[in-house]
Amino acid sequence: MIIARSVNELQDAIARRNGSIGFVPTMGALHIGHRSLIDAARRENDTVVVSIFINPTQFLPGEDFSKYPRKEEADFKICEISGVDILFYPDVKAMYGEDEVRICAPDSRGYILEGASRPGHFDGVLTVVMKLFNQVRPTRAYFGKKDAQQLTLITQMVKNFFMNVEIIPMDTVREGDGLALSSRNVYLDPQERVEALKISASLKRATEQVMQGNLNSESIRQKMAAVLEPLDVEYIAIVNRFFESIDEVILGNTIILVAARVGTTRLIDNVWM
Ligand code: AMP
Repeated sequence: MIIARSVNELQDAIARRNGSIGFVPTMGALHIGHRSLIDAARRENDTVVVSIFINPTQFLPGEDFSKYPRKEEADFKICEISGVDILFYPDVKAMYGEDEVRICAPDSRGYILEGASRPGHFDGVLTVVMKLFNQVRPTRAYFGKKDAQQLTLITQMVKNFFMNVEIIPMDTVREGDGLALSSRNVYLDPQERVEALKISASLKRATEQVMQGNLNSESIRQKMAAVLEPLDVEYIAIVNRFFESIDEVILGNTIILVAARVGTTRLIDNVWM
């Protein structure tokens, strides 16, 4: 595995490869959710590139940028054993200069839900993904459905900028008890880890409701809220694939999302149906 710390090193390494490139952008603290993306990239491409970059522009002032988990050694090992060919590990200076031109997320999907809680977050996400795509020039790029809004905005950006990359959505990987894997789970103490299960349990309750024929969004939302008690819930949303709020679940075109705080840790999860 080649570890590239600058854009030049990355591009030298890529120039020596032939065929398709599968790309998995991450912020590190890798877990088996990331691993599922890397494995898919490995199966479907000649070369696998993973980036690890904690992108400062997607954190708001006061968020966890400085304490975001950094696990360089373990991450390098995980990449190595997963068959990654090139690990791109730039520092902030390699990625950002002065007088930055930024990509702006649309008001519609960029400033609701996650974007309302974290205004400007998606501008930072889209900007860094644009940079990474231009540096790596991947054939396919793999993103988790866990970050549903991010996935839909990146798909939209690729379309709007006529970018030649296929976006591959990947299912959410969970712990045996339902908790969605997240690098931020390390912030949870044992008690909070138990409380956090209410999030996936609420989505399970929503799925059961739909299976039983209850498609009414408000009724589903209320049942989820009961499961989530007493967590500090930021939103429960029922939207179509375009992130428009819907009064009735439409099978094949619905995402149910939750954001809640467990102690001081903010967690998100969702289910696609
Ligand atoms: P992050 O390192 O949090 O920026 O995540 C990097 C990529 O991994 C993103 O596309 C995430 O959506 C994806 N990801 C994070 N957690 C999971 C999970 N539990 N299952 C599948 N993909 C995930």
